[in-house]
Amino acid sequence: MPIVRVALDVPLSTLFDYLVGAEVSVEIGQRVLVPFGRKQVVGIVMELAENSALASERLKPVVQVLDDVPPLPAELLALLCFCSDYYHHPLGMTVLAALPTRLRVPEAVAIKQETSYALSAQGRTLDLEQFPKRRAVQLRILQALQYGSLSGMQLRALSSSVPVNLKALLDAGWVETCATAEAAPAAHLFNETHILTAAQQQAVDTVAQTQGYRCFLLHGITGSGKTEVYVHLMHQVLQRGGQVLLLVPEINLTPQLENYFHSRFPDAELASLHSGLNDGERAKKWLRAQSGRARIVLGTRLSVFAPLPQLGLILVDEEHDASFKQQDGLRYSARDVAIFRANQRGVPIVLGSATPSLESYYNAQNGRYQMLKLSQRAAEQAQLPQVRCLNIGNIPLQEGISPAMLTALEERLRRKEQSLIFINRRGYAPVLMCTACGWLSGCPNCAGKLVLHLQDRRLRCHHCGHQERVPHACPGCGNTDLQPVGIGTQRVEEALRAHFPGARILRVDRDSTRNKGAWNAMRKQIHDGGADILVGTQILAKGHDFPNLTLVGVLNPDGALYSADFRASEKLFAQLAQVAGRAGRADKPGEVLVQTAFPDHPLFRALRAHDYDAWARTLLVEREQAGFPPFVFQVLLRAEGKQESEVHAFLKRAREAAIALSLPVEIYGVVAAAMAKRANHSRAQLLVQGATRKSLHQFLRAWDTLLNGLPAQKLRWSLDIDPLEF
Ligand code: ADP
Ligand code: ZN
Ligand code: ZN
Repeated sequence: MPIVRVALDVPLSTLFDYLVGAEVSVEIGQRVLVPFGRKQVVGIVMELAENSALASERLKPVVQVLDDVPPLPAELLALLCFCSDYYHHPLGMTVLAALPTRLRVPEAVAIKQETSYALSAQGRTLDLEQFPKRRAVQLRILQALQYGSLSGMQLRALSSSVPVNLKALLDAGWVETCATAEAAPAAHLFNETHILTAAQQQAVDTVAQTQGYRCFLLHGITGSGKTEVYVHLMHQVLQRGGQVLLLVPEINLTPQLENYFHSRFPDAELASLHSGLNDGERAKKWLRAQSGRARIVLGTRLSVFAPLPQLGLILVDEEHDASFKQQDGLRYSARDVAIFRANQRGVPIVLGSATPSLESYYNAQNGRYQMLKLSQRAAEQAQLPQVRCLNIGNIPLQEGISPAMLTALEERLRRKEQSLIFINRRGYAPVLMCTACGWLSGCPNCAGKLVLHLQDRRLRCHHCGHQERVPHACPGCGNTDLQPVGIGTQRVEEALRAHFPGARILRVDRDSTRNKGAWNAMRKQIHDGGADILVGTQILAKGHDFPNLTLVGVLNPDGALYSADFRASEKLFAQLAQVAGRAGRADKPGEVLVQTAFPDHPLFRALRAHDYDAWARTLLVEREQAGFPPFVFQVLLRAEGKQESEVHAFLKRAREAAIALSLPVEIYGVVAAAMAKRANHSRAQLLVQGATRKSLHQFLRAWDTLLNGLPAQKLRWSLDIDPLEF
């Protein structure tokens, strides 16, 4: 009897063998329902075989072949095998984690078909040149249907008044409904909005001339028109009938981007995959991608695993963004997986950023990637903002704000322009302190401090979620004079309200945008000029165009310059360049003021000069001297458990096992994690570095086997390959 080897969502690296009846047809990549323990679970057929290492009486039969959706393509399975191998994560868990939830549960996927529309025979005879111009929306619908049928959803993207106009066309008999949405074989409609600048054109041409795989780094300053480059590259691929994958960071921007690309490619079906979708929607879009009908797949991290039979191009926007790295389970970097995928598929990939990750920059320097540069803003009037540092070394601050910053804000209020105050700390103050004994509000479960949230008078842990009322007196000595130390968004907001009573101040952080739709409403308010001063965290830094914003003030960035995390200053520069890019996007020049005690630090010098390259060179020299990435390759073994001694004992054994392998890697000591205790679990780690990826992975293969043999009953441990956080 034939046997299938099935990937299951269990923490074992093997596949599981099952019998299939001779009369049942089953293919690789198909979902199957199989018995596992006392349950029935969904798995994916990875291999077909004639015999099994298991005795035949121990083999159980497949319960059901779930054939309501097509099998996963072999190419996707190969990609997942690569990920499992590279990230040392069990194959079954890797495969199942990549699937939408609906495809992981033992039910038929059952997805409602949307009505589609096509030109009727009569409609095809219409001369659109003669069609009344004032019925513009009807004309657009008719034009869009020239190339084939479209779904209601696609048509509605054309204009908000599509429903009434569509009804008029149906009533007139020019358009008719049809059962299945068969998209046009290629997307034809393309809205040109700009003539490309010479630099944009050159970037487009360079990528377009590429045959096969090649990785490009599109390094373009904020406002240089990277999106326009993506759009033109997409257009070329769509015209050939290909599919495009566009990966974006996780910042709630996907719906706006979706609208934007719809407006540029009205007849190309677009599937956007992000965390806001329910399970049904996600499965539906995934299947549209798999069928080849969705031409553009736009999504966050996980969409790198979307099946794309016609994939012709991958774009990764803001490639430096840390949200491309998954921090638990399969700890993959969607950017790196995307590069592997492009290579596997033999298509170009473009990584775009104003502040590339040092890894990508280094790869472009050494020729592994090809650099494409956009060094000017695309719109003629748009100037780069002037960046200045306010030396606060010996200046008294009011709630963290310097007099010069207040003056600059006042000037903007007078000119009726918007300002943005950027501070990367939400809450009122990072900690509460007793002025008598020095007691600090620590979290009972973590090594971190409780953040003071004054609005609801609570202390909150941003790591484990613990919260409590603000105490009336010091728990240590009974003193009632407890003072907030440091500043957060709420404190700045309060100070600015007191200082500028007439100003409309809007705080934008995770607390104020928690409710669904809150951020959208705020963005509209900002756009419509309903706010004078924005106080916010990095939510405000990315991808928004606020035309009346002319001042960006940065409050206390200095901590990152001397952080234990060697990537902290790289991230800070990226963040500041992003947030600075918000100032003066339209015809009004922008100004950026950074409060710092270290205005001569190379980071600020480069920021003032808008010279990312100078900064990257400085960092590369530092990293090379210190022996850090991108000059070495790292793996971090993390462990956590209730007992600190057990955590350390496990890591010590792991370390001894690593040393005993005597392979050419550098093995560091066992150290406590940056957050040594979180949610009542002690956390520690062990770092191993290799001079090449190959040497590190040779070591890892041997080590992983040994690790799995170590006693670790009361612990959780994991390997993080190419870790970003320590
Ligand atoms: P980036 O993503 O590089 O920050 P965007 O793609 O958002 O930049 O473009 C910035 C602005 O420049 C947008 O308003 C866009 O419409 C405009 N723009 C892009 N390309 C051109 C062009 N070739 N000519 C004029 N304006 C352009
Ligand atoms: Zn005290
Ligand atoms: Zn905590």
